[in-house]
Amino acid sequence: MRFKELTDVFEKIDGTSKRLEKTDIIAEFLGKTDDYLIPTLCNFLQGRVFPLWSERELGVAQKLMVKCISTVSGRAEKEIEGEVKNLGDTGAAAEKVLLTKKQTTLYSRTLNVEDVENSLKRLADLGGKGSQDKKMAYIKELLSSAEGNEAKFIVRIILGELRLGVGDGIVRDSIVKAFEVPVEEVERAYYLTSDLGEVARTVKINGVSGLKEISMEPGRPIKVMLAQKKQGVREAVEDLGEAAYEIKYDGARVQIHKKGDEVVLYTRRLENVTDQFPEIVNAARDHVKVAAAIIEGEIVAITMMGDRTPRPFQDLSRRIKRKYNIGEVQKKIPVEVNLFDVLYIDGENTLSTPFSERRKLLKKIIDATAIFRVAEQKVTANPDIAENFYNHALSMKHEGVMVKVLNAPYKPGSRVGYMYKVKPIMETLDLVVVGATWGEGRRANWLGSYLLAVFDANTGEFQTIGRMATGLSDQQLEEYTELFKQYIIRESGQDLSIKPHIIFEVAYEEIQKSPTYDSGYALRFPRLVRLRDDKGPQDADSLERVEEILKK
Ligand code: AMP
Repeated sequence: MRFKELTDVFEKIDGTSKRLEKTDIIAEFLGKTDDYLIPTLCNFLQGRVFPLWSERELGVAQKLMVKCISTVSGRAEKEIEGEVKNLGDTGAAAEKVLLTKKQTTLYSRTLNVEDVENSLKRLADLGGKGSQDKKMAYIKELLSSAEGNEAKFIVRIILGELRLGVGDGIVRDSIVKAFEVPVEEVERAYYLTSDLGEVARTVKINGVSGLKEISMEPGRPIKVMLAQKKQGVREAVEDLGEAAYEIKYDGARVQIHKKGDEVVLYTRRLENVTDQFPEIVNAARDHVKVAAAIIEGEIVAITMMGDRTPRPFQDLSRRIKRKYNIGEVQKKIPVEVNLFDVLYIDGENTLSTPFSERRKLLKKIIDATAIFRVAEQKVTANPDIAENFYNHALSMKHEGVMVKVLNAPYKPGSRVGYMYKVKPIMETLDLVVVGATWGEGRRANWLGSYLLAVFDANTGEFQTIGRMATGLSDQQLEEYTELFKQYIIRESGQDLSIKPHIIFEVAYEEIQKSPTYDSGYALRFPRLVRLRDDKGPQDADSLERVEEILKK
């Protein structure tokens, strides 16, 4: 298939904000596409080259892309950067400068979808010394072959900025529409394979019966079941009656797939983290007593062997990010796993088995060790017992409790009312904005992240405590960019110093000790609650208040 056919479809999808219209365009396109191309197209439509759970990534930064566009177009990098800023989109900038480039180079080839995919896959395989140059060679080759709108979309895909507003939901609905199959069947197959492209190809070739045959397979990640919230344990007891209370361990969810001696680990976002946790791989290999299984748990970074006090999430995050010399960081940051569910045992999926039975199965197939444990649980309908258990979880320095419905099945990918979390409500902080950073790509003309600070009334100084990039709509980004423009003190590259004037009320997941910021603390996942235009910079919260909250 000519790549141009696909980019014209991209253009059509980009031209409408209506979900139904997007669905119709994609359905029609998938309906007339060759079977073998369908998985590729489903990835491309979502701006990806690989399925969501693949470890592979393109790893091309904006700067490198600007260099490529500059070489191919014969225009200076500064000029390209100017266009990116003006148009707010590197893809559009590439399209513009390449369309006006002197037509001295003949297009080296006509691009088709498979070529582009192959080039990008090869690009992703490159690593180590000299890989940037090799990556550039692939990109330049694609860009100099690109015609019309092709360059724009190639650039956007490589930078991960396609943003056609096509998520899983729209692709799912398009499959339903194109091949006239029930949405529940498509959804079921998707949750079991985490790969809509494969689902679409199966439907196209074998229809509903093909879909029905899709089943779980150790090695292929499954979308996890998500939790809802309850305000407190008493509310949980009132609403659910007898239920299972488990410690809500403060770590990262892991899905452990075992088949014979092979073990694969996935995170909640279906990232493959097998290499990062050799001790868990070994434990699963040696202490899961069946030939094949898929089990779930929470990995927690602990203080040391023998002291299970959880460490801050950032330590676990170091383990997750570390791809080389694992042994070193493994010694420094030991981990344990607390297992809480089983989804598959020896060829049978256990999704419709009630939770209380799944828990029994889990205990049966696991030989627990110091670091490979079954989550602590208490089944009760008594509010006092539930409350005690909650306090016990907090005293162990974990986040709170999970409350689980005893007779509930496991519903992959859904936030159904089968499990709930209860954790203390975090107080928000009022913080002063003292810096900001320009956004990238489509958001290049807006301030993308804000540097936040507390106020020290004694010294009159502002001490930084974190950077906030989320919680803002496009409209707010635009509005706040205008607002802050008048307070810019200095600009260096992407970074701005802002005169302390505006207060943001900020929520966050956690406060951590950190050398990164002046205050000695950092907020984890800060997000904007609202702008406090009723407050001035002197009204911002102090370091003392942060320390008080931390103590609590
Ligand atoms: P949240 O991420 O706040 O929505 O809370 C749900 C998350 O809590 C799950 O995705 C797990 O990563 C984590 N978790 C910790 N302990 C448990 C447990 N015992 N059962 C289920 N989830 C748990």
